[in-house]
Amino acid sequence: MSVFEGLSGKLQETMKKFRGQGRVSEKDVKEMMREIKLALLEADVNFKVVKDFINKISERAVGQDVLESLTPGQQVVKIVHEELIELLGREQSKVTFSSKPPTVLLMVGLQGSGKTTTSGKLASLLRKQGKSPLLVACDVYRPAAIKQLQVVGGQLNIPVFTIENNTNPVEIATEAVKFANFKQHDLVIIDTAGRLHIDEKLMDELLNIKKAVNPHEILLVVDSMTGQDAVNVSQSFNEKLGIDGVVLTKLDGDTRGGAALSVKTVTGKPIKFIGVGEKLNEIEPFFPDRMASRILG
Ligand code: GDP
Repeated sequence: MSVFEGLSGKLQETMKKFRGQGRVSEKDVKEMMREIKLALLEADVNFKVVKDFINKISERAVGQDVLESLTPGQQVVKIVHEELIELLGREQSKVTFSSKPPTVLLMVGLQGSGKTTTSGKLASLLRKQGKSPLLVACDVYRPAAIKQLQVVGGQLNIPVFTIENNTNPVEIATEAVKFANFKQHDLVIIDTAGRLHIDEKLMDELLNIKKAVNPHEILLVVDSMTGQDAVNVSQSFNEKLGIDGVVLTKLDGDTRGGAALSVKTVTGKPIKFIGVGEKLNEIEPFFPDRMASRILG
């Protein structure tokens, strides 16, 4: 996967100019900051995030020990790299499992973000880590969505819990957790309904499910290709529902990277997984340091 081609290309070019440079003046650093700033804004990174990021690296980069070091160019590049990791969330953020199984994960997000696919992907990934997952179809408004989860479950050979003709997602979720206890599934992944826009009804329903099953984690699925919108959606869901982490999907098609670089700072919540393709094995845990290296080359 090539990561954020546009952004990577521009940043790498700027870095290359600097890397081998023996002497670096304050003016050089300023010029570099200007170029980085432009590259980030073009990549659709949130304006405030860009501003703070540039301030931080500028402050560190014009320090005397950097400018007077033997390899100032390299030092500046190193600072950019470190701050990029910080921006992406620093440490890998894993799903926390309950000491009293089953662990319940509530998957939320707008329609089309990749929620159903991601529920299946995640179930399969965590099964590889020894979990016994149960998928739960709570998108009661679209029979096609329930069918879709059943197809995904069938492909992965993972059971899907539904209650036919029941249109109450709270009941379905509650019964699913009981069923998981009974069948000794230690992981319950609940796929919920999404809408084209955030509205009160969607949030109320999710709040009701949250109250009923007390999930260990609420994971928000967002489409990275929607850029700043993805970040706004994350912020709203976090304010209204409280989320524990974000799964950024369609990173394979996202050439800008604005969402990936803004989500953590804007919402305070980490990116936990990334979707990198349509296939059910195309999900990866998110590692900030690896992503930073991929961006800077
Ligand atoms: P939902 O409405 O949120 O449940 O979204 P779906 O799971 O139905 O996904 C919507 C579309 O996005 C489907 O065509 C998926 O195959 C596609 N999709 C989901 N995740 C990814 C991803 O990481 N990469 C790509 N390229 N497509 C994805």
